[in-house]
Amino acid sequence: MTGTKVDIIGAGMAGLAAALAFSRAGWTVRIREQAEEIREVGAGLQLSPNCTHILNALGLGPALEGVMHRPGRIALASGTSLNVITYVPAGDEAEQRWGAPYGVVHRADLQSVLYDAVKTDKNCSIELGTRIEPRELGDSDADLVVIADGVWSANRIRLKEAGKPSFTGLVAWRLLVDAEDAATFLDPNNVTAYMGRDSHLVAYPVNGGAKVNMVAITNGDSPGASWSYATSAENRAQLFERFKAWNPVLRTTMRDAESVTYWPLYQMSDGAYFDGGKTVLIGDAAHAMGPFAAQGAAMAIEDAWELAASATQGRTAIFQWEERRRNRVGRARKRAGFNRFVYHARGPVRIGRDLVLSLRKPEHLASDLDWLYGWRATGL
Ligand SMILES: Cc1cc2nc3c(=O)[nH]c(=O)nc-3n(C[C@H](O)[C@H](O)[C@H](O)COP(=O)(O)OP(=O)(O)OC[C@H]3O[C@@H](n4cnc5c(N)ncnc54)[C@H](O)[C@@H]3O)c2cc1C
Repeated sequence: MTGTKVDIIGAGMAGLAAALAFSRAGWTVRIREQAEEIREVGAGLQLSPNCTHILNALGLGPALEGVMHRPGRIALASGTSLNVITYVPAGDEAEQRWGAPYGVVHRADLQSVLYDAVKTDKNCSIELGTRIEPRELGDSDADLVVIADGVWSANRIRLKEAGKPSFTGLVAWRLLVDAEDAATFLDPNNVTAYMGRDSHLVAYPVNGGAKVNMVAITNGDSPGASWSYATSAENRAQLFERFKAWNPVLRTTMRDAESVTYWPLYQMSDGAYFDGGKTVLIGDAAHAMGPFAAQGAAMAIEDAWELAASATQGRTAIFQWEERRRNRVGRARKRAGFNRFVYHARGPVRIGRDLVLSLRKPEHLASDLDWLYGWRATGL
């Protein structure tokens, strides 16, 4: 493809990262985003080294350092005793092992870092408050149209063979609490995944350590297709009920959280990312997955970088990109499925799990993740 103009639909992690990657490859980029302003609900993201090394290559390292916290370890703990069973080393060890930092960040901060870079990039223009419908895409005079409009994508229907979204039967409760309120049980420097029957909860610091972001995942219902719901008293009661077998200290902290949102979790079935013409799907629009491996945004950012590296070489290279991405995303998805099984185990399986995990050395747990975190993007 000899083109140099790309239209990007959606300014989430995928769309903004794609804009910067295409600009770096010399393309002229136009992004259109339905929201009037770039604003995210209160929540956090874990950024693994496979993702941060791309963000660094996009020149975002210094800005990211200003907002990202580097945890010392990723601990796995019991949701009833709160005891740490084992951990994956992070901090300096992560950077040495995987070549880039492991970090946690408030979602809005990462989005601002990306957005600020796009706004000052001379190859990029961004139009907010502009919702794009599928019929408009046919009129685009760009050489490539990148659909990055998320799991609820309206524009995905441009690709007949694209996957379909379905409800996982799980909901994520996102809670923000004061670090002081969690200080009795939580080491504020670490990411901690508490595991319990049919549910788990991941906690980590955001906002420079002032707050702790908690994501609790349980079975639940989906009120419909939307990204996030403000939580009613009834919802909070449901959350409390789901965690009734959990440690009371943790439950009280959850009950008193200042901000709680409720997210039904959807995932995409496997499908095409490229139509063979000029339309490509990236990020959640292509392959939303459960958050058990914390890889959704990372896969979106990988998609973006890899697509920009391939697109200039033409359609064959984009088909090759699609195949590589489907293999990689498929593997991350399997890992997420495995984590779901491990984190939510009950009864004898849970006892066996705790024993096996406690016998595994942190070094072994780290080496299990080499394929995922140590992956290197094209040209880096
Ligand atoms: C509970 C939970 C925890 C998670 N934790 C992690 C984690 O720790 N680490 C990680 O890597 N990932 C995590 N993820 C996944 C991650 O949040 C997503 O994979 C990622 O945000 C997807 O980015 P995206 O840009 O593809 O989609 P989105 O962020 O959904 O962005 C899509 C954008 O397109 C815009 N848009 C939609 N339709 C239109 C239209 N028609 N016209 C114009 N604009 C449009 C939307 O307004 C939006 O701005 C988590 C997800 C959940 C639910």
